[in-house]
Amino acid sequence: MSRQGAQVTVQVQAYNFFVNGKWTAGTSSETFDVRNPATGETIGRIPRAGKEDVYEAVEVARKAFEAPAWHEMEPTKRGKILMQIASLMRQNFDEVAKLETLNQGKPIRESKADVAWAIRAFEYWGGAADKIQGETIPVTPSRLTYTLREPLGVTAHIIPWNYPLALATRSLAPALAAGNSIIAKPAELTPLTLLRVAEYAQKSGLPDGVLNIITGSGAVAGRTLVSHSDIDGITFTGSTETGKQIMETAAKSVTPVLLELGGKNPNIILPDADLQRAVQMAKYAIFTNAGQMCWAGSRLLLHDEIYDRFLAELKKQTELIKIGPGVDERTELGPMVSEDQRERVLGYIKSGTEDGARLLTGGQAPDEPALTKGYFMKPTIFTDVKTTMKIGCEEIFGPVLAVFRFSSVDEAVSLANETQFGLYAGVWTNNLKLAQQLIRQIQAGVVAVNDYLVAYPQTPFGGYKDSGIGYESGLQAIGHYTRIKSVTVNIT
Ligand code: NDP
Repeated sequence: MSRQGAQVTVQVQAYNFFVNGKWTAGTSSETFDVRNPATGETIGRIPRAGKEDVYEAVEVARKAFEAPAWHEMEPTKRGKILMQIASLMRQNFDEVAKLETLNQGKPIRESKADVAWAIRAFEYWGGAADKIQGETIPVTPSRLTYTLREPLGVTAHIIPWNYPLALATRSLAPALAAGNSIIAKPAELTPLTLLRVAEYAQKSGLPDGVLNIITGSGAVAGRTLVSHSDIDGITFTGSTETGKQIMETAAKSVTPVLLELGGKNPNIILPDADLQRAVQMAKYAIFTNAGQMCWAGSRLLLHDEIYDRFLAELKKQTELIKIGPGVDERTELGPMVSEDQRERVLGYIKSGTEDGARLLTGGQAPDEPALTKGYFMKPTIFTDVKTTMKIGCEEIFGPVLAVFRFSSVDEAVSLANETQFGLYAGVWTNNLKLAQQLIRQIQAGVVAVNDYLVAYPQTPFGGYKDSGIGYESGLQAIGHYTRIKSVTVNIT
């Protein structure tokens, strides 16, 4: 930002994308603008890659995969490169966090947590690179049978806009640890921090062509990438609808997909829980990242016995949430990522009211003059929600909480499972036996007990039902970035 006289002007930075170790504008003369969601101002201008650019990136990635510099690199050395990327990110920690906030909108402390997570993920996979191993299988004394774990080859990574850095790292780090070469496409709304990763990867000694970042639309660059016949694996995080389309496309070339899709996650509060902490965490579970999270605690299930007092406290605390630009350290709720996303959320709020849910608080954009240029939304709570209402069953992806009431554990379980999704669930109780029962009965890939929004690079993350296929993070993720070769040697 620079000052000219009394006026503040924002410098628009021009970027290129990254293919074969070079920053390039590719063949397309089109660009797109990247905005700061807190002000609506353009902060970057980026080339919009066309089909030819994607073809070139795939060709480059294939050559890099086969080249000895990468293919024959010792796994320990691959690991050291990942460690070095983590180290460069740590050296530039505050700058990367600020860039994430300026581009995505989230409060700076959330961006810092995301950068810390990304560093840990590179370190975790850096350490794992030389532990990706096969097994020996006892068959008969005359045969030596074993498995080799080989990298898939060229992997495509489609990244969403809600956690641009953390979710990119979540799939890039294991794919690189396993020895693949990569083409990643960030969302047009939020490409900036992933371009930083490319810069750090190059400085860390990653051979040219192993990591390629293509900027462009999902409709052209994304679609061209996932339908390319020379892609060996696809990782996608985003909407269930786009995920299904990608899976259909991938089926044509029998390409494996790892899909992490939507959620409409139950956060179940039982009367014996630590209610003070449960209120705080219920708020955190839905209003973090302005609710733009697949794992948001977007359905709060409250037991009859505590319903009124829990809601009264939650409403009180929600109305105290400090809304503002993410760069302000005091901000608790930043803007939504885009005007379109805010419009989408306002549409859900309208439908909730029309369907007979009761608006307890929020429901509109804040009217403070300082916030009118950004894409802000008030934190919103609806009560009297039914699972048949749109706000009760669809992923809103905004700061909108749907509250349900239950009077028995069986009722809580059936409410929790009455959804097309099955990504994440929260259970709040001090009764371990009951917690155990709920863990077993809830159809979700991840369950947190007396906690919410907890995920580490070492814990598998994936969904049941329409929430996806496969697992990100944890050693289990390596299955998606490698294939197994089964070998038998006749030793007679
Ligand atoms: P999308 O699923 O359409 O977008 C996610 C990513 O996929 C972006 O990088 C996008 O590119 C890319 N993409 C879009 N279409 C294709 C395609 N046909 N082939 C390959 N890549 C493609 O989500 P939206 O941004 O449209 O958001 C809509 C809703 O999706 C949200 O309200 C939310 O409910 C859900 N969502 C869920 C996420 C999650 O974490 N599970 C993350 C993001 C969204 P580009 O944006 O550049 O066009």
